[in-house]
Amino acid sequence: MVRFVSVNDMARWVADDGAATIIAGLVEALEHDFRRWSDFDKRPRFGMQSDDGVIELMPTSDRTTFGFKYVSGHPINAHRSLQTVTAFGALSDAATGYPVLLAEMTLLTALRTAAVSTMFARALVPPAATTMAMIGCGAQSEFQALAFHTMLGIDTVRIFDVDEAAMAKLERNASLIGLDVIRCAHALDAITGAQIITTCTADQRNATVITDDMFEQARVAGGVTGVHINAIGGDCPGKTELDEALVRRCSIFVEYAEQTFLEGEIQALPRDWPVTEFSDVLTGNAMGRRSADEITLFDSVGFAVEDMCALRFLDESVRRTGHFAEIDLVAEPDDPKDLFSLIGAHRRAGVY
Ligand code: NAD
Repeated sequence: MVRFVSVNDMARWVADDGAATIIAGLVEALEHDFRRWSDFDKRPRFGMQSDDGVIELMPTSDRTTFGFKYVSGHPINAHRSLQTVTAFGALSDAATGYPVLLAEMTLLTALRTAAVSTMFARALVPPAATTMAMIGCGAQSEFQALAFHTMLGIDTVRIFDVDEAAMAKLERNASLIGLDVIRCAHALDAITGAQIITTCTADQRNATVITDDMFEQARVAGGVTGVHINAIGGDCPGKTELDEALVRRCSIFVEYAEQTFLEGEIQALPRDWPVTEFSDVLTGNAMGRRSADEITLFDSVGFAVEDMCALRFLDESVRRTGHFAEIDLVAEPDDPKDLFSLIGAHRRAGVY
């Protein structure tokens, strides 16, 4: 039998344990896995691009466990009343090859993306940061806001979205979390005075949510020196959020450089452009923020190791809490060589 975590199980687990507690646990688990980076098989994900979006498979293994996530990204879905991102994933035991867990991952991806952003931010945010700008108020945004509030002490979030209803929704939910929410008329307004800028927009093109000029104008007007940019929306070829001129003057931190050069904000930059893989920061081989006035960028695309980590964290948690069902996914005849016997019980006379 295989443990199965449905959307309902996932929602009940998060409600019972608390999203903030789960994100904090995920950050610890992620840091542990990023410190043992060399244990993992790493490769850029496989993606199938269509006119409407992308469907991707993200496999990895540490030789003990194999895991993968299926994830779709369809910004056009917003106009069809469908989710932009959907996902599910599985874990298998490397020793037997048997799958042990099958889980919904749309919610889990939002939790893990917030946890990954937090992990990077802990090493990169300017000192005494209290205000975050949030450009893009869709499905990911509350999870990001919650994580930065509870783990980094952000008390104010300045929000902007081209969709008024999405802004109203984030304002409502972030206020419940305990954040001061300031609705802004445009992106320039939102980033003015913010020491952290999170971009989580969805648009199937090389968009420029923040121009270099706009960034500089906001920094001066807001009296801010150092800034950390947490850019999560640009995550596949031809889909970016930031002005290349701005990207070029940031200190850039990535999950796995080979994949980020294909999919992230840095996709237009030469392959020898200096970037820091975050595992090097955690193992002490590279520095995080070096000075109070530095502009740092987490060029987030999402990487398979993070999803396998989230699945293992989920599996350990639900085995404790019982938020799962068992499903009959793997054929297990009494005699392993007699697979044919499974049909026998159902076979109609004379039908082969
Ligand atoms: P969503 O569709 O629910 O929300 C996106 C929001 O962006 C929408 O409300 C839309 O109106 C807004 N938007 C689009 N263009 C804008 C603009 N120019 N200015 C302001 N707002 C704008 O999507 P989501 O699930 O919240 O995901 C957001 C993005 O994050 C997607 O691009 C998704 O692919 C990406 N993502 C990345 C990771 C990662 O690990 N890096 C993980 C999950 C999702």
